[in-house]
Amino acid sequence: MSFLNYTSTRNPSINISAAEAIIKGISAEGGLFVPTEIPKLKKSDFLALSEKSYNSRAYDVLKLFLDFSETELQNCVTNAYGKNFAASDIVEIVKLGSGAYMLELWHGPTAAFKDMALQILPHMLTTSLKKFGVDGKTLILVATSGDTGKAALDGFKDINGINIAVFYPEDGVSDMQKLQMATQEGANVHVFAVKGNFDDCQNGVKAVFTNSEIIAKAAENNIFFSSANSINWGRLCPQIVYYISAYSDMLGQGQIAKDEEINICVPTGNFGNILAAYYAKEMGVPVKKLICASNTNNILTDFINTGIYDRNRKFYTTVSPSMDILISSNLERLLYHLSPESINQWFTDLREKGRFEVDETVKNTLHNWFYAGWCNEDDTKRTIKEVFDTYDYLIDPHTAVGYKVSEDYRRKTGDKSATIIASTANPYKFGTAVYEALTGNDNPDTPMNEFALITELERISANACPETLTAIMNKPIRFKEVFDKSEIPQAVLKIL
Ligand SMILES: *Cc1c(COP(=O)(O)O)cnc(C)c1O
Repeated sequence: MSFLNYTSTRNPSINISAAEAIIKGISAEGGLFVPTEIPKLKKSDFLALSEKSYNSRAYDVLKLFLDFSETELQNCVTNAYGKNFAASDIVEIVKLGSGAYMLELWHGPTAAFKDMALQILPHMLTTSLKKFGVDGKTLILVATSGDTGKAALDGFKDINGINIAVFYPEDGVSDMQKLQMATQEGANVHVFAVKGNFDDCQNGVKAVFTNSEIIAKAAENNIFFSSANSINWGRLCPQIVYYISAYSDMLGQGQIAKDEEINICVPTGNFGNILAAYYAKEMGVPVKKLICASNTNNILTDFINTGIYDRNRKFYTTVSPSMDILISSNLERLLYHLSPESINQWFTDLREKGRFEVDETVKNTLHNWFYAGWCNEDDTKRTIKEVFDTYDYLIDPHTAVGYKVSEDYRRKTGDKSATIIASTANPYKFGTAVYEALTGNDNPDTPMNEFALITELERISANACPETLTAIMNKPIRFKEVFDKSEIPQAVLKIL
């Protein structure tokens, strides 16, 4: 049996297996691993998938991308998606109005969509390590804007042979996210609050992978680095599953006709989730537009609309912190698929000048495939209230950004196609913003603690808070210290 191979966006001579790509996380010259071809599904495949459970769908899709045996992959899927999810179908779809299909991706243990990938990644990684006979220890390094950190900690806690260190921007995450991470259990977990923003954390962690002192000490102790950020192929590939799954459901249940196109709208930060939607489209989901929704950090809106990626701009802290990003790492993968020979020049420009511009052909393709828009802070809150008042349905600020941009798209274009909107977090993860949106009460003099907020929100909305969040109330805080971004290398050396 022959398996799909992977190359690097920045070095076409690289040709490795999925297992190796998952172990390495990022290519030595700084490129990202991409499949050398994208598998295709037929209409009949989607109909067949619609009859199956989420786990079987995950198996069927992932086997196209991974060089795992049947038993290996079955074990990964079974260990990842089970009772740890509050929804028996793992993912749920809620239809609002005539055309919005809310794809609820947050029924996992940490109440954000990151669980969809991070509950399975540890199993994919240990399987890959075993295949390669790696006998040392692995240290997973994660930079997070909030949700990845907790989801990675939960996925990797107490997994044999693995340690995990998470770095998050001290003031760039919600109180609930902070509490979730600070109370993390497990003997193999390390959590660091960093003074700075997400890009500081991400750059700090990226630099660790090439720091010679750290590399030497790790080698000496037989410790090997990997990443759980969405630059790891093992993060991306499980995300393709739920778009294929959602389309199969809509097709199977007759909500859309056989030849009907759909839109997929994704509230976007690091470009991982929407890239997974792009792969699903390339695999055969008939997508009219991939709708890329940004918050006030609207660098991707500008890029898709103008072809110019310019990071020389102000960074904003918003109520949708998981999207507060100026360098969307996974965009490199999309650009690679569009124009592999240009990548090195563009990313040299980005490094040296903070900007690059793509050519006309790429611009046109981007316009054909994507619609991009953004949503400011007031509109985010207004949208939460509007959706609640209209449909009695509570959404979090990230999902609200997606909902608003998809509504803007409908109004501007008149396109009434069914639209899957990725619902990326449970609203209780961002209680303060949701509460303000519903009540108009944003008086900073009377801040409520997270748990009083939960009680209030449950009273107002009659939507129950997930148990995994209420349980945090009784857990002791384990990680209190705040670090300077220059201390990231020392922090890692200490763990080694
Ligand atoms: C991570 C995250 C996003 C952004 O996803 P990307 O894959 O980084 O684009 C959006 N919403 C929530 C709630 C998230 O946790």
